[in-house]
Amino acid sequence: MTSLAHFEKVAGSIALPGKAVIDGKTLAAASGATFDNVSPRDGRVLNQVAACSAADVDFAVTSARQAFEDGRWRKLHYREKKRILFALADLMERDAETLAVLESLDMGKPISNSLESDVPGSINTLRYYAEALDKVYGEVAPAAPNRFSFVEHEPLGVIGAIVPWNFPLLMAMWKIAPALAMGNSVVLKPAEQSPMTALKIGELALEAGLPPGVLNIVPGLGGEAGKAIALHNDVDMIAFTGSGAVGRLLMQYSGQSNLKRVSLELGGKSPHIVFSDCPNLDTAAEHAAWGIFYNQGEVCTAGSRLLVHESIAEPFVEKVLAVARTIVAGDPLEPKTSFGAMVSGEQMNTALRYIETAGREGGDLRLGGKRTRLDSGGFYVEPTVFDNIAPTSTLAREEVFGPVLAVTRFAQVDDAIRYANDTPYGLAAGLWTRDVSLAHRAAREIRAGLVWVNGWDSCDLTMPFGGFKQSGFGRDRSLHALHKYADLKSVSITLP
Ligand code: NAD
Repeated sequence: MTSLAHFEKVAGSIALPGKAVIDGKTLAAASGATFDNVSPRDGRVLNQVAACSAADVDFAVTSARQAFEDGRWRKLHYREKKRILFALADLMERDAETLAVLESLDMGKPISNSLESDVPGSINTLRYYAEALDKVYGEVAPAAPNRFSFVEHEPLGVIGAIVPWNFPLLMAMWKIAPALAMGNSVVLKPAEQSPMTALKIGELALEAGLPPGVLNIVPGLGGEAGKAIALHNDVDMIAFTGSGAVGRLLMQYSGQSNLKRVSLELGGKSPHIVFSDCPNLDTAAEHAAWGIFYNQGEVCTAGSRLLVHESIAEPFVEKVLAVARTIVAGDPLEPKTSFGAMVSGEQMNTALRYIETAGREGGDLRLGGKRTRLDSGGFYVEPTVFDNIAPTSTLAREEVFGPVLAVTRFAQVDDAIRYANDTPYGLAAGLWTRDVSLAHRAAREIRAGLVWVNGWDSCDLTMPFGGFKQSGFGRDRSLHALHKYADLKSVSITLP
């Protein structure tokens, strides 16, 4: 049954997770402190969540280190590791509806997205890395005749994973699954806006038989729990997804402590370029609209800049507006909703400020621009489109992380490529053309970690995900991500 009443009933029947998962136990913070977990759906407090501090983080890191050193996970036979990770995936499938409802309540995304994308995508990610864990080969190196030399991948140790609120479960799984597959222990801090699905995964992992201490979940505020993980001298690596501002701090914390590795997946201002020979304007308009409005625009790869050739600009923008007008904004738990709430009042106000600035800087407002659904008490902003945005303006250069599209028209191919590259970011780019030479040229010249031709977000789990420039470094997804969580060891045996 899929109705608002059904999902409200499910929401009412779930024991909302609010405790940390440390050393195989669900625990309150040592201090007893909690924080209000607010639902963006209606602005109400859902539950109290443990506000972990440095003491809790230290306990989690100590437990993770102990688990790593005694080999209860690292030294387990690979068949057994797979069995446990697959068991966790099966439990996630069993509890898929619960996970989806928790995600939508916590974060505001439409329940249909949680059910059809976030939860199955997270399960697929886990199964992908569980399947891959016994297919990571080392190398035999060329060596002098009296030597046998080989190179092995060794797990790093304790991974501190710090993740954002926009895809809380999926971002957590992009880190947890490859890190565990390589034999590491993990201490994960979910974002304070959306901690519940990560806490639930911590509980399910214990049920699946993951040994205590191997996966610890420490909810808490970024400046306390997150900072404590990043400054901890016994954490070997920080795997981070979030903002550039926090990414910068993490590199400082690494320098101030044990020079732990840092991998950063940061923001973006991704261009979506529609050349004059776009193969299908209707399809491209559909992708351009959903490329920015999916997940209320709270997507690091959101196609927030639409660069469109002047010869087709007017009809194309009309088509994008027509698609945007079909978007069903509403209650995240209503199955018909395709566009939900922004994660918090703070994020909503950020988007509204950017809208105000874009208007002041001369952008033409073609759609939306306002807060909506005020009666709900939640945090809703209309899908918003600004036309004639100058490439130098604020909306063309800064990440909003909300449902605001900046349209810029261009005359020459070189202008489009120049505009595309003219931001501090380099995460994703899309282009629409029939000309294979132009597609290759633009894909080469645009500085972005992901380039999609004639499709938006057309990327499989099998491909690395991450950015150039200030969009960060290090890659999630694909087999490459496994190597991020391992060190190379060169062993050379001198033969008699
Ligand atoms: P954020 O940087 O504010 O927070 C991310 C995480 O860092 C949260 O868990 C937060 O508690 C923690 N944190 C905050 N201050 C900290 C500190 N001093 N020390 C340690 N941890 C701290 O980001 P956000 O607002 O949650 O997420 C939005 C950002 O994430 C956007 O910039 C978006 O583009 C980016 N993002 C990137 C990707 C990607 O894969 N490239 C994916 C999703 C989101």
